[in-house]
Amino acid sequence: MDEALSQLIRISKKVGRDSTLVQGGGGNTSVKTADGKYMYIKASGTALKDMNKSRGWRRMRLDSVLSIIKDKSLARLETHAREIEVVNRLLLACDDEVRGPARPSVEAHLHGFLDKCVIHLHPSAAGAFVNAKNGKAMLEKLFKTEAIPPLWVPYTDPGSTLAKKIARLVGNYQKRFGKKPQILFLHKHGLFITTGNADSALRLVHKVINRCNSKLKQPKAGKVKSVSQEKIKNIKQCIRREFFEATGEQATISFFYDNEIAAFMARKDAKEMLAAGVLTPDELVYSNGPAMWVEQIETADIAKRLTLQIKKGEKHCLAFLVKDAGLFVAGKKKVAQTVRDIVAYSAFIRSNAKRMGGICSLNKRQRDFINKWEAEAFRKKVAGA
Ligand SMILES: [Zn+2]
Repeated sequence: MDEALSQLIRISKKVGRDSTLVQGGGGNTSVKTADGKYMYIKASGTALKDMNKSRGWRRMRLDSVLSIIKDKSLARLETHAREIEVVNRLLLACDDEVRGPARPSVEAHLHGFLDKCVIHLHPSAAGAFVNAKNGKAMLEKLFKTEAIPPLWVPYTDPGSTLAKKIARLVGNYQKRFGKKPQILFLHKHGLFITTGNADSALRLVHKVINRCNSKLKQPKAGKVKSVSQEKIKNIKQCIRREFFEATGEQATISFFYDNEIAAFMARKDAKEMLAAGVLTPDELVYSNGPAMWVEQIETADIAKRLTLQIKKGEKHCLAFLVKDAGLFVAGKKKVAQTVRDIVAYSAFIRSNAKRMGGICSLNKRQRDFINKWEAEAFRKKVAGA
């Protein structure tokens, strides 16, 4: 096996197992070969932790990947036609024996011009800052002693616009500091770490997360109250019925209750924090936005609220935080676990961002873009398959 591929599998498994770093099929990793000709990158839709020597990655010709960013004809295309064209070109840049529908990560061309090893994550610790009104200023303070300071990337629609924006920002950064950045914080999105090898990249991931956590409040343990099986069964039935009435889908309802969920639900401002809206592209893609707060199951009008979301052209909730009971998720078992991880990630970010000037969320135009994004729809489909 190529050394670059074995490094890729190692870092992917390592970071992919931790749901505070990455949830569901989100995040991506890449390693360039020693000769500089190829880049091994995570395949779209598969989870990082599921990568192995035969699946979950693609090998791409680096020059073909880089030419996508430089191609000016792409900029003249209409937004969605452009995104589809980019996804097709990324597929054409693949050069390996992988069969089946595995496409390279939609962020592949962005990895192309970063350092040899790239780890892109959606950590809750970084999220607390990138989703907070004072987050940028606080990060600058927190990392001010770094010789290679972090690069802040203002919110940009994911896909080719983001790749181009980062290419430009990295170019400016290089002119100013004489080298490429190693830490990139993406507003309302996540974190990129990029260095010359797998070990230094993993070390930097942990350093950044620890430093972020040093300023954050962790959820208190031991708040989980016991809920009777009878009560859980009744709530499941109720949500299933209301969900079907509004969406026409026969969903399985899963129940989750743990420290992280309990700590968030115990807060008086939980409902208000959820009302701040969708935090990141991944929260929208994987869990259709934040959970619905249900004060009292009998009078919650869940069907009515879901119908209203659908009428407004928004995605309807999949997660329901029921007071004095726990988290209920509508959907297949495997998807439900991802939704639980996203709810916990989102709860941590909201609680901390609120203390740092307030919660920043995606606006209507940004949400609409993601909802229509062909590549994302593909990603979710593969993740649920
Ligand atoms: Zn991302």
